[in-house]
Amino acid sequence: MTAGTLAQGEATGTFYIASSLAAALDALNDYGPEGAAFAGGTWIMRAPIRHQPLKTRHVAIGKIPELTEIRIGTDAIEIGAAVTHAALASALADLPDFAVLTAAAGRSANPAIRSLATIGGNLATSDFSAADCVPALLCLDAQIEVSSRSGRERMSLEAFLTQRSTLAPGRLLTKIVVQRSRHKTAHARLPLRKAGDYPVAIVSLSFDVDTANYVRAARIAIGSVETVARRWDRLEAALLDRPLAPARAADVAAELAGEFVGRESVEVPPWYRVSVLPRLVRRATAAALGA
Ligand SMILES: Cc1cc2nc3c(=O)[nH]c(=O)nc-3n(C[C@H](O)[C@H](O)[C@H](O)COP(=O)(O)OP(=O)(O)OC[C@H]3O[C@@H](n4cnc5c(N)ncnc54)[C@H](O)[C@@H]3O)c2cc1C
Repeated sequence: MTAGTLAQGEATGTFYIASSLAAALDALNDYGPEGAAFAGGTWIMRAPIRHQPLKTRHVAIGKIPELTEIRIGTDAIEIGAAVTHAALASALADLPDFAVLTAAAGRSANPAIRSLATIGGNLATSDFSAADCVPALLCLDAQIEVSSRSGRERMSLEAFLTQRSTLAPGRLLTKIVVQRSRHKTAHARLPLRKAGDYPVAIVSLSFDVDTANYVRAARIAIGSVETVARRWDRLEAALLDRPLAPARAADVAAELAGEFVGRESVEVPPWYRVSVLPRLVRRATAAALGA
């Protein structure tokens, strides 16, 4: 770390508060594997409870203007990585095409956590399987921007999920971009007190439905059941070109649910996460239809 780099922000021991994106990227690059971004800190600060070591150097990114902006355009919205769940839910509240993301950001965790936890932190935490915004953004086909000192790169959220645990030091998730559409979207989750109020399963979906109520496009993502959230391709295909109905969607989900292998955890048995999927598909489909 050079004095010049530090002059752009405020250094406090091993905690560097970056005031610009360039300063954050410089610091992360200089710290190398010893450093990590500190966004809301809600995951990092619980490292001792998980018996995980903390990085020795952190770069706080929550005060960087570029990362805390939400731009709502006519064709797309752009969300800075350090936007909190609460700010995101509030900004999108009047946009029906983003009902799935508003629900994911606005119902996750609890108000105190939502006021601190960022969308970037939610997507970047590779050992957290119950993140609400991951399936929500998968069903919206989100693009992710990753920045480093050498430039910016765009990739699909799917691609980001495969590389996030090995993201090279000095690379930062900086923006999420979602195209606007007239799709009907919804987010259904099953929180369980026994599971620390984390959702045991999440269904996020987005449908393009014609005037006769036939499904012309479907994107359905499942979170918290397996280690990493993913699209449910076979269910999407089975619902295409048929009338959209919650009961039928749940029946098809029940037929196909066997393809999921629930993750191991102390809170609930793996089969339980899979068994609740049809009910959540029904609830999410009804919500998307406004029923
Ligand atoms: C009690 C409790 C209940 C919760 N319940 C829910 C829930 O129901 N649903 C849900 O979705 N979440 C839940 N969470 C998790 C919470 O959403 C995550 O802790 C949070 O999203 C992480 O965001 P953060 O900004 O606090 O990340 P941080 O703790 O700051 O960082 C987490 C990790 O991500 C990395 N990181 C952060 N930002 C970036 C970036 N821009 N680029 C690259 N890497 C980055 C950090 O280096 C770190 O490794 C809960 C958390 C708690 C404590």
